[in-house]
Amino acid sequence: MLSFQQLSSITQGREVQVVQPQPVVHLLTDSRKLSQPAGTVFFAIRGKYNDGHKYLSQLYRQGVRTFVVEQGEPAALTHLYPEASILLVKDSLQALQQVAAWHRQQFQIPVIGVTGSNGKTIVKEWLAQLLSPDELVVKSPRSYNSQLGVPLSVWQLNANHTLAIFEAGISLPGEMEKLQQIIRPTLGLFTNIGSAHNEGFASLEQKVAEKLKLFAHVELLFYCADHTLVHQAVQRQSINTFTWGRRQEADVTINATTTAGHRTIVVYTYLGQKQRLALPFTDEASVENALHCLAVLLQRSLPLSEIQDRLDRLHPVAMRLEMKEAINGCYLIDDTYNNDLGGLAIALNLQASQPQRGAHTLILSDLLESGLAEEALYKQVAELVQPHRVQRLIGIGPVISKYRHLFGEAVFYTSTADFLKAFDSANFRNEVILVKGARVFGFEKIVQAFQQKVHGTVLEVNLDALVHNLNFYRSRLMPDTKLMVMVKAFAYGSGSFEVANLLQFHRVDYLAVAYADEGVMLREHGITLPIMVMNPAPDSFAKLQQYTLEPEIYALEQLQAFVASLEEGNKYKIHLKLDTGMHRLGFVSEDFEALFDLLQQYPQVQVVSAFSHLAGADEALHNDFSQQQIATFRSMATEVEARLGYSVTKHILNSAGIVRFPEHQLDMVRLGIGLYGVEATGSEQEALRPVSTLKTTVSQVKSINAGETVGYSRKGIADVAKTIATIAIGYADGYDRRFSNGVGQVLVQGQRRPLIGNVCMDMCMVDVTGLQVKAGDEVIVFGPQLTLVELANAIGTIPYELLTNVSTRVKRVFFAE
Ligand SMILES: *Cc1c(COP(=O)(O)O)cnc(C)c1O
Repeated sequence: MLSFQQLSSITQGREVQVVQPQPVVHLLTDSRKLSQPAGTVFFAIRGKYNDGHKYLSQLYRQGVRTFVVEQGEPAALTHLYPEASILLVKDSLQALQQVAAWHRQQFQIPVIGVTGSNGKTIVKEWLAQLLSPDELVVKSPRSYNSQLGVPLSVWQLNANHTLAIFEAGISLPGEMEKLQQIIRPTLGLFTNIGSAHNEGFASLEQKVAEKLKLFAHVELLFYCADHTLVHQAVQRQSINTFTWGRRQEADVTINATTTAGHRTIVVYTYLGQKQRLALPFTDEASVENALHCLAVLLQRSLPLSEIQDRLDRLHPVAMRLEMKEAINGCYLIDDTYNNDLGGLAIALNLQASQPQRGAHTLILSDLLESGLAEEALYKQVAELVQPHRVQRLIGIGPVISKYRHLFGEAVFYTSTADFLKAFDSANFRNEVILVKGARVFGFEKIVQAFQQKVHGTVLEVNLDALVHNLNFYRSRLMPDTKLMVMVKAFAYGSGSFEVANLLQFHRVDYLAVAYADEGVMLREHGITLPIMVMNPAPDSFAKLQQYTLEPEIYALEQLQAFVASLEEGNKYKIHLKLDTGMHRLGFVSEDFEALFDLLQQYPQVQVVSAFSHLAGADEALHNDFSQQQIATFRSMATEVEARLGYSVTKHILNSAGIVRFPEHQLDMVRLGIGLYGVEATGSEQEALRPVSTLKTTVSQVKSINAGETVGYSRKGIADVAKTIATIAIGYADGYDRRFSNGVGQVLVQGQRRPLIGNVCMDMCMVDVTGLQVKAGDEVIVFGPQLTLVELANAIGTIPYELLTNVSTRVKRVFFAE
């Protein structure tokens, strides 16, 4: 906690206005995450894609009374927010960091700083698990490791904690010094250095040097001496170290690692003694992460049996919140990732971003290791839950049950088993259910009880990547250009209401669908954004009106049918499609006379926009033609407005157009494929993140002899003896038959493997010779490592087709990182 006076002096802000200043309890940087207005200070931060100042009035209306801003006229601010205390600073992000740095200095406990290219979140989580028997640990929630995330992580520190573990991530030179001053680690752990995310750095050496700045003042640094670049850089500095290594001489020398079933046996030498331990993992990355943790445990002189005991209980960290469809129209947010307050707040926010799906239910276990006294903790939990409109709380565990009086209407069970005994699926219908429990409560059993059966093939949709792509295109828009997002064809195969929901949450201006039914579906799921329908059939006009969907009008006969269906006294919005050269749908100038004559007779019909579509925006080859289309559109739109006597929203650019013709954004643009991770011009593909991963599983593995054949028409011929895996995807799932006979490849254990034989209706066969594959193994059909663009090229089509072909029987699973 911090007084307003302290806030003011720490940030050296100018006090624009001080009205009944409140002590600062919560730091807020994202207006959507407001939960408790009293005691919240909002830092209006200007980011690459968004500007916190835009949300001041909304937050003021919601009751926030303390603001840190970096722009605005004092007189205007006090006029707009008469009851707020306002600080004007040079840089709001810096002010936030100063507050966190000050907060950190109030505590004398050991603080472990973790950085490195890979594994930092897992190592942080595991260290917290491993050390929690001895310590009250506070840690960064999820992967809050940025310039913004670190201050929020550090702010969680309170007087009861005995150990802090914070991770730090950077993408540019100069950033680590700032994070160092906020975290001030007394101990360090450097996981490794990879070649990823190199953009901001001149060389790997520079990246290592920059990351090392986190450890400038640590008493001891843990790292793996085999990472040569890290090792050399550390050696050049005078840092006390504790190392492990296989090849290099180190404090802990790893003599051998061998797999035994699902475990890895590690033989190591420490203080001259050879010892052996088992890790509950076999994959390389987990073993490395676990060895980092082992080094920390050994340095703390824990007895070997105790170390083994704790390692046995180590569990993989689900790096993401999964959202999936569940029984009876319910939707499940599965978050058994961590159950501290920070994690709960994040999960509740995700739940809040699905406001239209129906009632919200929270199933919550006891919170462990918060560092707070029980009563204070559950008071905070209740305060956190209360503003999130959770209609039903189910508390599971002896402690949360004890504090039931804090929660209003809620049901409590002392154990997961009790809950499951009483569980009746009929009691859950059309709800968004957040399942959040500490590991020991075994909430995966609850998740299983709610889950529908999953057919082996799933399309995973990365919602963070989607938002990233949205922001990329937003960053290309002029401040006043509106954004319409195309969610036709099941949002390009990605799942329409999930995507629409997210877009609504991120405040796009318009949505567009192909057919009225798609629009109705969105409305039924509570989407309130304006929606344009591009192919409204005459028999759907009544529906359009009932669900306030706005038709695209492209022909006179169509408009005649539409006006004939109008009801007295209502107002209608339509969008005029103009044909400027695509020659698909739309009016040409010759139609205008009749068109506007008719419109004149129906003043209740308002033309809200006029638009056209580019035929060749993705290819530079057609630039002249596109320019000509744009010029034609501009002049046609001018005429439209002149004839109507009012102005309309004008738009012509699709995803490729946004990249290629930024000067022709007009009033609005229409984003399609780019949102889903494909940059259609190809020139900025690197700036986008892949959104979808299509995954399936191996159904059976076979060995065949040279000369034998595989599949229908005996097309797959084994020239030598082969191992064949049959996988659970076929053309009925949308996996194109043109991938047959080696044209297509899939990823098996991260390796590209060709198809053998013809693609069948529900399955196909893959040559996995040389790999150790078994039934149930995961296979990736497309994803970040095997891109849609590449696959589309292999069979002479476009990514749009591959994406939208994934059949609806393939389950969509949405996740946030
Ligand atoms: C589908 C569509 C778009 C979006 O096109 P992308 O190439 O996916 O960006 C824009 N406008 C209209 C009329 C469309 O039908």
